[in-house]
Amino acid sequence: MRAAAGIVHIVGAGPGDPELITVKAMRRIRSADVILYDRLVGAELLAYARPEAVLVDCGKAPGRHAMTQEAIHDALIRYALEGNTVVRLKGGDPFVFGRGGEEALALAARGIPYEVVPGITSAIGAAASAGIPLTHRGVAASFAVVTGSRRHGEEADVRWDLLAHGADTLVIYMGVGRLGSIRDELLKHGKPGSTPVALIERGTSPSERIVTGTLANVQKLAESMKLDNPALIVVGETVRVRELLSLYGSGLASGYGQA
Ligand code: SAH
Repeated sequence: MRAAAGIVHIVGAGPGDPELITVKAMRRIRSADVILYDRLVGAELLAYARPEAVLVDCGKAPGRHAMTQEAIHDALIRYALEGNTVVRLKGGDPFVFGRGGEEALALAARGIPYEVVPGITSAIGAAASAGIPLTHRGVAASFAVVTGSRRHGEEADVRWDLLAHGADTLVIYMGVGRLGSIRDELLKHGKPGSTPVALIERGTSPSERIVTGTLANVQKLAESMKLDNPALIVVGETVRVRELLSLYGSGLASGYGQA
């Protein structure tokens, strides 16, 4: 540990495949004194840390917070004040449902230098590698990323009434546990039951599973595959592009690799 003024890098690790991290993020991992990492970050990436780096598992499984958000803020601040180069490593992009904004605010409020290194968010990475374009000429001119979870049991602030019509493709994060009520909301607000849906579990990882169906039968699909976290729900006509691509045979390679 060094004595000079420290810094915190809030870093996105990408959607799962360790090769889908940015060059900048990899550089930050390699030079960190301390890495505080989340559950979604693959062990392969931590192998690039310096041998003497301190690795802190902030591991937040759903409903089982290993470290509270406040404890994470305190740890980031403490390590930085000790003069360390600190990496806060998160799955996907740190500012997309990653609470990176709260961490940046906590650091800024204490006058601690920080940097944000963007990452490929899972909606972008998992959909593209599954052959689902989020926009597609003539089919989808917009997409929205949406949380499917509620804040501590409250209704989420999500306007399903507007989203049912306001964005062509919907990508729903953290929605697996509430799939039935999300489907009901969309149907209630006039989204046709025939709208194509894809479920992507552990996208871009070697254990990735993808199924496609419709809004009407998505719940059955999820049950039959025993869908689990982390998973994304993609709703919209562009899901058909994946189905079309698969009609052409095996052109879409799965490119999981080692960073
Ligand atoms: N910051 C992350 C999102 C964190 S919220 C990002 O930018 O991707 C956690 C949710 O992200 C999960 O519940 C799941 O909906 C989604 N997610 C993250 N990684 C995923 C993956 N590899 N495959 C499918 N969904 C994923």
